Amino acid sequence: MNRNDAITQLRSRAKPWDIVVIGGGATGLGAAVDAASRGYEVVLLERNDFASGTSSRSTKLVHGGVRYLRQGNVSLVREALRERDRLRRNAPEIVHELACVVPSYSRWDSAQYWAGLKLYDLLAGSSGIRRSRHLSRHETLELLPEVQSQGLRGGTLYYDCQFDDARLAIALAQTAAQRGAVVINYFPVTGLLKTSSGALRGVQAFDCETDETFEIEARVVINATGPFSDAVRRLDDPAADSALTLSRGTHVVLDRSLLSGNTAMLVPRTSDGRVIFMIPWQGVVLVGTTDVLVNHAEFEPAPSDTEIEYLLETANQYLDRSATRSDIRSVFAGLRPLVRSNRSGRTARISREHSIIIDSESKLLSIVGGKWTTYRAMAEDLIDKAIVVGGLSRRNCVTAELPLHVSDSSRPGALSSSDSSLGYPVCDGVSLSETEVIRSCREEMARTVEDVLSRRYRLLFVDARKAAIAAPRVAEIMAAELGRNAHWIRKQVDAFAEIVQCSIPAT
Ligand SMILES: Cc1cc2nc3c(=O)[nH]c(=O)nc-3n(C[C@H](O)[C@H](O)[C@H](O)COP(=O)(O)OP(=O)(O)OC[C@H]3O[C@@H](n4cnc5c(N)ncnc54)[C@H](O)[C@@H]3O)c2cc1C
Repeated sequence: MNRNDAITQLRSRAKPWDIVVIGGGATGLGAAVDAASRGYEVVLLERNDFASGTSSRSTKLVHGGVRYLRQGNVSLVREALRERDRLRRNAPEIVHELACVVPSYSRWDSAQYWAGLKLYDLLAGSSGIRRSRHLSRHETLELLPEVQSQGLRGGTLYYDCQFDDARLAIALAQTAAQRGAVVINYFPVTGLLKTSSGALRGVQAFDCETDETFEIEARVVINATGPFSDAVRRLDDPAADSALTLSRGTHVVLDRSLLSGNTAMLVPRTSDGRVIFMIPWQGVVLVGTTDVLVNHAEFEPAPSDTEIEYLLETANQYLDRSATRSDIRSVFAGLRPLVRSNRSGRTARISREHSIIIDSESKLLSIVGGKWTTYRAMAEDLIDKAIVVGGLSRRNCVTAELPLHVSDSSRPGALSSSDSSLGYPVCDGVSLSETEVIRSCREEMARTVEDVLSRRYRLLFVDARKAAIAAPRVAEIMAAELGRNAHWIRKQVDAFAEIVQCSIPAT
């Protein structure tokens, strides 16, 4: 996956592409993989870096969604469980099983959680991971040594999957490229091209690295821009109604000592009637998430102090030792691009199903909603519709059984600094090597320090202070690799320092 080669392919194209996809998050990348693997000619254009929007800021669960069961959304849970199974088989290096415990403090709670999770097992059917079961107080404390022990009666153990969201996005981009798609980051779409009759014939886009504008013709244009999908729909029709409801979800990342085992905890009750997760991930504990209605899409949504307090307070009700702000390694927030619903003012209740909107005149295809877990099924639905809209010759979807390309960096143990073949660590105490930084540039289209420290490797999310220390050396290595000068290094380090500021709340 090489950016210069991708742009050369774009430039030398003499006829329209079959499909152009706008947006390189889970939804757009899934669509590019689906279309390319069916043999269509596809271009995907991402304004920033792949997965730099919502798709790198999830809870990192590949799951049916226990809480959607509570809402009675059985069809969504069943579909997500089916997709969980496929994803485990198609990307075993990135997606792996995760044991979760719901602690209970009354008999009635135990009975309720047990019944709910048995239904979860039942819906999973043959794609289930392992059967859920009741745990005694002793067994619960063994799996969750730090759980609030006072009044604890026992727990319910169930299984889901966990993944690295940004890594899966890179695997999708590489799979799409391997199947012939042209995928490019730092390439925003700035306008839509139309025929005299008002039908779309392509997009106008812009290369952020050279300031060059391109006109890219295609038979179908797909808008997969998540929280920005209304903005792209309004490039087509300035009067288009909003199709989106945006909800911010924040996570705090805590020191591992607060949950030292390998088991996640589902906190079954919060003050606003939701659930939150405490999940061991990459040597830290992810705690999230919140659900706050927001009015407009921002590229860098900032976690509010109220959300951070809420997450700490809720987690502390279930921990023996209270977490404080000094335990926070990092915070991050993402925007859920939910299907607009007038039925409820509470975003936690809005369905996580997806919706595809086809503009009657221009035939712009926009997709909103969905989950990371169901990206493949969403892509299948989307490309089936694109075939009809664009009058493309019908070819069947093949992604249910398609293994995803996994680069060496995604393999377990790839970050081990003891592997001398990977070269020196970029700095003391950081298990990211110089060779890995170079590989991110050569094979994974990393273009900025943030791309490397935030998404190719998750140091910003795991420990923002350490990421700040690593940034200057990463900038130097990248500059040598990408042919950049000292001015570029300074700008990158300054820009990254600002990002780090937003990832560490005041103590
Ligand atoms: C807090 C939180 C926790 C979540 N947890 C989970 C979970 O555990 N499991 C799960 O399955 N799902 C989870 N989700 C849902 C999942 O993360 C989202 O459904 C998914 O990431 C949405 O992907 P997307 O591609 O639609 O949007 P995005 O990832 O936002 O991608 C849209 C892309 O479009 C690009 N773009 C915008 N405008 C333009 C333009 N003009 N030109 C080119 N590109 C453009 C943006 O830069 C962006 O990269 C969570 C969501 C949130 C917010």
